Amino acid sequence: MRGREGAPHALTAGLTAKYHSPFASVAMKIALSQVPPEGLQVSYAAGPELFADAGDGVVAQGSVPVAARVDTEGSGLRVKGSAEAVLELPCARCLNVFPAAFITRFDVLFTPIALDVDADEIELGERDMAVCHLEGDVVDLDGLVREQVLLELPMAPLCDEGCRGLCPRCGADLNLGECGCPPQGDPRLAALKKLLEG
Ligand SMILES: [Zn+2]
Ligand SMILES: [Zn+2]
Repeated sequence: MRGREGAPHALTAGLTAKYHSPFASVAMKIALSQVPPEGLQVSYAAGPELFADAGDGVVAQGSVPVAARVDTEGSGLRVKGSAEAVLELPCARCLNVFPAAFITRFDVLFTPIALDVDADEIELGERDMAVCHLEGDVVDLDGLVREQVLLELPMAPLCDEGCRGLCPRCGADLNLGECGCPPQGDPRLAALKKLLEG
C-alpha cells in the first residue's frame, strides 16, 4: 500500500455516476469522506506501470480496466468489483514471454479496526469477503487491484500446456523443432557418433 499523498480527484457521487480517468498514471484512491450514503460506482483504467515492479519478468500489456462499487459499511468501506489485466509472463519451460489474460474479482471490507483484533469481532455478512485495514481513511484501489491480480499468477506459468521447453543440452527451444541433440543418451556416445558421422 502506498502512502496517502496524491489526493484523489473529486469523484462524482451517485449510483450511476462514473469516474473516468483520462490519465492512466493517476493513482486511484478513494477517501472515506468521498463516499456518499448511496455508494459510489468507480470505473477507470489503471496504467500498465501498476505492475512495473511486479518482478519475475511480469509486464502489463496495456492499461488495466477496473470497475468497482464502493459502499460505506459500518465505520469502513466495502469495495467490490473486478479488473481485467493482460500480463506478459515468461514461460517456466521455454522462457518465451507470452500474454495471459486475468479477470480478477474482489470483495474487500476495509475497516479502521486494527487487524490484530479477533476477526470474530468484525461482523461479516459473507465469509468469502476479505478484510483489510483501512489506512488513513483512504482505500488505495490501484494497490488492491495490483494485489488481487498478482494473487492469480500461476507459480509456473506455461505458454502452452504442451510446451516442450528448452533442450537441456544446447538450450534450443524445442517448440521450434528438434535441435539435433540425441534424445537421452550418453553425451560421450553422442560425441563419438558425431566423429563417426564426420
Ligand atoms: Zn513455453
Ligand atoms: Zn539440443
